[in-house]
Amino acid sequence: MEHSPQTIRRFEEHLRQHQKQLESSMISAVAEGRAIARDTQDVADQAVESYQKEMLFSQGANGHEQLSLVRLALERLREGEFGECLRCGRAIGLKRLEALPWTPYCIDCQEKIERGELHDPERAA
Ligand SMILES: [Zn+2]
Repeated sequence: MEHSPQTIRRFEEHLRQHQKQLESSMISAVAEGRAIARDTQDVADQAVESYQKEMLFSQGANGHEQLSLVRLALERLREGEFGECLRCGRAIGLKRLEALPWTPYCIDCQEKIERGELHDPERAA
């Protein structure tokens, strides 16, 4: 991959910042979920409570998935593989990396995965 060291460093900073944000938002989502569970006594509140818990849970789950992508990207950055599609090995476009620096796939593979034409090895793992 022919991205310049400056470009790589910029992506690394972006990824680390994102990792921190995700980690702190997940911690607060868990804490809020616990607070809701503790504070509810009223039966009428229980529908609201379970809805809120579900919301917080799914936020946490999405955050977790994204966090593992960010960690994978940082790992690949260290290995010098950052910016290569995990599946086909071709270069991921710079614009795509700027929008989604944690993406492990090029746009072609991502679209195929979303259409169900390709198996996503990351999700299956
Ligand atoms: Zn690809």
